[in-house]
Amino acid sequence: MSVLVKTSHIWGKEVTDNSIIVENGKIKRIGFYGDLSKDFMGEIHDYEKGMVIPGFCDAHLHMTWLGQTLTLCDLRECKSSAEFLDKIRAYAKKLAPGEFLRGFGWDDRAWSDNEKPTRWLIDDATCGHKCSLTKVDGHSFLINSEFMMECGVTGETTDTPGGRIGKNQDGEPDGMFYDSAFDEYARKKIPSPTTDQLESFLLKAAEHLLSYGITSCRTFGTLDDFVTLAHMDRKGILKIRTCACIPENALAWAVDLSAKTGTGSEMFWTGQLKLFADGSLGSKTALVSEPYSDGTKGIEVTTIREMKEKITMAHQIGLGVAIHAIGDEAVKNVLNVFGESSDQDTIEHFQCAKPQSIALAAKLGIPVVVNPSHMPLDAEAIKVEWPKLAQNSYPLASLIKAGAIVGFGSDAPVVDPNPLTALACATTRGRTVYDQINPQEAISFSRAIRIATKESSAIIGGPERGLIEEGQAADFAVLLDDIRGKDPWDVEKVPFVATYVAGERVWKK
Ligand SMILES: [Zn+2]
Repeated sequence: MSVLVKTSHIWGKEVTDNSIIVENGKIKRIGFYGDLSKDFMGEIHDYEKGMVIPGFCDAHLHMTWLGQTLTLCDLRECKSSAEFLDKIRAYAKKLAPGEFLRGFGWDDRAWSDNEKPTRWLIDDATCGHKCSLTKVDGHSFLINSEFMMECGVTGETTDTPGGRIGKNQDGEPDGMFYDSAFDEYARKKIPSPTTDQLESFLLKAAEHLLSYGITSCRTFGTLDDFVTLAHMDRKGILKIRTCACIPENALAWAVDLSAKTGTGSEMFWTGQLKLFADGSLGSKTALVSEPYSDGTKGIEVTTIREMKEKITMAHQIGLGVAIHAIGDEAVKNVLNVFGESSDQDTIEHFQCAKPQSIALAAKLGIPVVVNPSHMPLDAEAIKVEWPKLAQNSYPLASLIKAGAIVGFGSDAPVVDPNPLTALACATTRGRTVYDQINPQEAISFSRAIRIATKESSAIIGGPERGLIEEGQAADFAVLLDDIRGKDPWDVEKVPFVATYVAGERVWKK
């Protein structure tokens, strides 16, 4: 079946080009509506003032975790303990009997009253469901009495190295768990999602991504996520092109099955093996050459030797490796480890890099996937923790000048995956002049779009797409308005109205 999509303009095309004909999943013709509609027999989708833009590719995100976040009890906006309890109660009432209640994002500092988060506060509102609620910082957790009983925690239970159990004046545990105490006593007791739940998380995430004009993505998750996505593809219910990576703990499985990068279908294919060279800036575990405010220099999560061994194993079966590297030392190590032997490999985040590393990444041709939309999130920490490395942070212009292969990823759900936010950050380097990071590393808007569409797509593989050209896969989105000449932060507010993958309208406002 062929479809004619009519708008007011197509990004990057001649002024008079306002329409596209798609057929058999590909772009067949581009031109002026008056010409294209002559003798056209198929369906017409008219978006009036809308604008066609190539489908975005998010080259680094966590689909299951995103879908789960969209499903959990969201406590981020609560301004009082009463509001917090209302949200929990309303959510609990919708759960099936015996279902575990999970929530996230609460912040008692934002409450207008002086109520303390304790299990006694939430017990009634949880309506008999076992419950665990993650604080906004992701480092502390509130659980209810029923779940605490199951975890076997009492006044006698001791703290863990690097963790603490909250207690009241009488020494009674109050339901609060900090850092490793939660991992030790509670996390393992939370039921892991069933296959049906995983599928519903993935469907929810796909829907959310499509609503932002994202037509392909590369996801990092568990082996269960990978297998569930493969099943969904076979059932024909996966509506976004998905490249799924393999976690480090599944390397043996990948070797047994000869899981090769790029194999699969047009909608689902195998990505890389994921390794971690270091931690993150927020927790001061990213490996850096200049010490943090507390004198430390981060953590080598995987040793160079271990990385080498795993890369060799992966490369033997044709599986590429994607390595998380945030600090400049981690980036340097990873480039040295890959050396000339790189093959379908990528470096993830590449948040801080010295000029030598940028030159080497370009020379070796190893794609780097950066997260421009994290700039507003990290601006403060960079000022405090990386004063001497600030000029090496998010080196977009330098990477492009050096000729490196660059892609964009949101790392959702770390931030909302709206690709228009990444475009604005890449071009302005901050929401205001006060939180700008390294403004000399800004790139042009049209280059940012090219990276977020064509170039990211090429990095993750799959069918030829990312340009509005005849013969390319018909993967594109329609924005409500023409975005030419607008301020990037105004563009961020322009809503998407429809998204097409392989010529099919898979999402509509
Ligand atoms: Zn990530």
